[in-house]
Amino acid sequence: MAYLTLKNINKIYPNGFHAVHDFNLEAERGEFIVFVGPSGCGKSTTLRMIAGLEDISKGDFLIDGELANNWGPREREVAMVFQSYALYPNMSVYDNLAFGLNLQGVDEDVIEERVQKTAKILGLTEYLDRMPRALSGGQRQRVAVGRSIIRKVGIFLMDEPLSNLDAKQRVTMRSEITQIHRETGATTIYVTHDQTEAMTMADRIVVMKNGYVQQVGTPKEVYFNPVNMFVAGFIGEPPMNFITRKVEKGCITIGQHSLDLSKKLGERISEYEGKDIVFGFRPEAIALGEKADAYVVSGTVELTEMLGDNANVYVDVDGDKSILKVTPHEIPDMDSDIAFSIPYEGVYLFDAETENVI
Ligand code: ATP
Repeated sequence: MAYLTLKNINKIYPNGFHAVHDFNLEAERGEFIVFVGPSGCGKSTTLRMIAGLEDISKGDFLIDGELANNWGPREREVAMVFQSYALYPNMSVYDNLAFGLNLQGVDEDVIEERVQKTAKILGLTEYLDRMPRALSGGQRQRVAVGRSIIRKVGIFLMDEPLSNLDAKQRVTMRSEITQIHRETGATTIYVTHDQTEAMTMADRIVVMKNGYVQQVGTPKEVYFNPVNMFVAGFIGEPPMNFITRKVEKGCITIGQHSLDLSKKLGERISEYEGKDIVFGFRPEAIALGEKADAYVVSGTVELTEMLGDNANVYVDVDGDKSILKVTPHEIPDMDSDIAFSIPYEGVYLFDAETENVI
């Protein structure tokens, strides 16, 4: 049985705003789930309903098979880390970590043991005597995480815990949080708008938009089998390229190239005759030049960005902008005309009207 079950969960705020629509999810014990989506899509609202900090307007929330809609945060055995973490400024790192356990009246020697263990997991052992003001932002955030994991909880909730850190600290903390999760085994729900965090940390990703779940899947599933243009465009960096064209005799025309879409869709392409279709491909799915068993397209190079191990090439493809990922040795000249190929399996076709994958 799933540890956490969200069945048709809805949130309608007192002002009438419907922030979350029929959210469904089953999380296994120990799973690391990431809610990802643009600002305002309802990630935090859903997390706060799971935490017991926000009423559930409609739907059932179950913990280990028991209806928990009306349980308080403590009964749910949740710990939560927020974006803006507040440490007690006049207490040492040790006392900040021990605070919650002290309140619960846990024995001194048990507290000592747990503080030492938590500090070790988080690399804070040598800072236990320091005051928060004498720590870097990343170290303070680790203390905040430590304060939550020091209590033994079943559910660990994190709302954009890395957003106040610089890019380098974020990368370090990302792997630390994954490691802590492995060691504590708590079912974790992590909210972010950053698709890289979602892809690198999650067992499963929940992609949200405007209060609706778009797709639930492993990082590989949402990357390789996006259900619609939103997921395809949100997951992956740089995003998937989209070119919309009308289907005529089973083909679309991009510049001087006629692409036979039956090679991708078989007979189903006839359903789209005379209709617009969206031709999608990821920047990294292309090969420069004209290859066999692939769709060949051409365009004019407008900008190149050298990134080190690879480079982005911005191309005008018959009036549409596309980004191609190439190796540093392949970077074409500015303003040059280039051809590139996309293998059939690297192409995604979307219904231009519904935006769903075909
Ligand atoms: P962000 O990444 O910006 O935090 P989010 O995806 O977490 O965004 P939520 O904070 O869950 O989004 O908000 C979802 C929607 O609900 C937003 O449109 C927000 O304005 C609205 N909302 C949040 N709290 C309230 C409230 N108390 N009353 C009315 N509407 C609210």
